[in-house]
Amino acid sequence: MAAAGIVLAGGKGTRMQSGVPKQYMLLDGKPLLYYSLRAFEESDVESVVLVTAEGEEDYCRTELLERYGFAKVTAVTAGGAERHESVWNGLCAAGEPEYVLIHDGARPLVTPELINRVLVQTKSYDACVAGMPVKDTIQMTDEHGVIMLTPKRESLWIAQTPQAFAFSLVYNAYERLMAEPEVKVTDDAMVVGLYGDTPVQMVRGSYTNIKVTTPEDMVLAEVFLRKRYG
Ligand code: C5P
Repeated sequence: MAAAGIVLAGGKGTRMQSGVPKQYMLLDGKPLLYYSLRAFEESDVESVVLVTAEGEEDYCRTELLERYGFAKVTAVTAGGAERHESVWNGLCAAGEPEYVLIHDGARPLVTPELINRVLVQTKSYDACVAGMPVKDTIQMTDEHGVIMLTPKRESLWIAQTPQAFAFSLVYNAYERLMAEPEVKVTDDAMVVGLYGDTPVQMVRGSYTNIKVTTPEDMVLAEVFLRKRYG
């Protein structure tokens, strides 16, 4: 029942408006990416593929893997221009595990418990996504900002990561996506939903499992981390 993690750190982080790529910005003294790798290291996942931006592979090997002794990382590979291309490169470097958990390296608050919870559920459902019910009302607008539709809040979830799948299911879905470059996707559940026929199960994540995207997210992440580790 081998399970592999794919930790994505191939983005440019332009919304962070910082000189340092966000995955290496320091959070409580350690690079942001360190925290996801540590959570996977302490989880039941057997191996991890780290996907970096092109040209950053050696830096990650030295400054993260060797420095902190992340023994489960078996491959470091360069990502592509879009997230889905990075996922594809990660899938191609994962060997052929039975299950794969895809995780945004920009979510440092993930825990080994959450990774394990998603993995256990994936063994039953084959396709699972960590997520949380939305707290706010979400409005859908037209291109002028005029509200068109108010979806029922009870059915709305924030999709997080890990997003985990039987390996062949997600691999085959991504293989088809890569043959259709005009299709735009934002997460893995969407890819499996488009090209697979397995329903994707939502698994309760955590409201602290935020994606660090803009500068204020760093402040929040630091507060959450200190509360947990401090
Ligand atoms: O851009 P977004 O916030 O959706 O990125 C989510 C995750 O995907 C981040 O961890 C980022 O590093 C990764 N990513 C990637 N390759 C890209 C774009 C994003 O690995 N080309």
